[in-house]
Amino acid sequence: MSRALVTGGAGFLGRNLALRLLKEGFEVVVLDNLSSPSPLGSPEGATFVEGSVVEPPDLPGPFDRIYHLASPASPPRYLQDPIGTLRTGAEGTRNMLDLAVSHEARFLLASTSEVYGDPAQHPQHEEYTGSVQVTSSRACYDEAKRYAEALTYAYNREDLVPEIRVVRIFNTYGPGMAPDDGRVVSNFINQALSGRSLTIYGDGSQTRSFCYVDDLIEGIWRLSNSDVTVPVNLGNPEELSMKELATTIAESVGDTGIDYLPLPESDPTRRRPDIGRARDRLGWEPTLGLAEGLPPTVEYFRSLIDA
Ligand code: UDP
Repeated sequence: MSRALVTGGAGFLGRNLALRLLKEGFEVVVLDNLSSPSPLGSPEGATFVEGSVVEPPDLPGPFDRIYHLASPASPPRYLQDPIGTLRTGAEGTRNMLDLAVSHEARFLLASTSEVYGDPAQHPQHEEYTGSVQVTSSRACYDEAKRYAEALTYAYNREDLVPEIRVVRIFNTYGPGMAPDDGRVVSNFINQALSGRSLTIYGDGSQTRSFCYVDDLIEGIWRLSNSDVTVPVNLGNPEELSMKELATTIAESVGDTGIDYLPLPESDPTRRRPDIGRARDRLGWEPTLGLAEGLPPTVEYFRSLIDA
């Protein structure tokens, strides 16, 4: 039986990925320091080890695959701990690459659309080199992930880890998210469910493109089974402004009004993935829009409130 390590496997995406790997017949070990866990935690059926990728504990291998997702990921979380975020991307990724060397494991890095910064090119293709303001507060995350990618390619070039995969994940939502992680979808739904005004940052004209978690996990699964070693964008190209998102959520959950708050520094003005590469190389594209993905997400958050 194949055995996989999922770092960050108690977080939103890691947990959903670990569940998929278990379903595909893998033995799964989760390494997570529980700094920003999903309320649902590490999945049942996986072996859970509490610890950080920066100073990893002994792990019960051997591993055929390492899925490296561990990192603070929502802006409020990484802005609270900029040095820790940079160390996770740098030292943590190096430790996990060294682990891949010793286990001769296939290594998948969870990178991000944030490598494109506040993009001058739209939509964002993988060949776009990005526009990150290195002195901005967000750079702790953006540059950590850019370094993690560069390090992964360096290990590959030096033939230390021949099997690498790099996924650039765009905004994703769905069951398993933490209600308090500060992301826009979780904020808006929880605000509407509890009768509070939706908090729009800035004038709400900035755009994002939201992918339902099941689609994203299918893409990661396909990428990890493919022979594609170049970075691959995974996300839903359905783009909308935060004002439109607020309206959509108010229509489906209830209209509780809107509060306009200041726009955070270096908040990207627009974001939409070019998914041509994922389509061509993986035969992948999202199958669920907000109309399908929001209802189960709302139900999930409602169940947390009722619990
Ligand atoms: N945002 C907002 N209200 C909130 C949370 C976020 O208007 O309560 C905005 C945020 O400024 C950004 C967008 O929604 O423009 C997406 O934010 P999120 O933190 O979900 O992800 P990001 O794409 O910025 O990493």
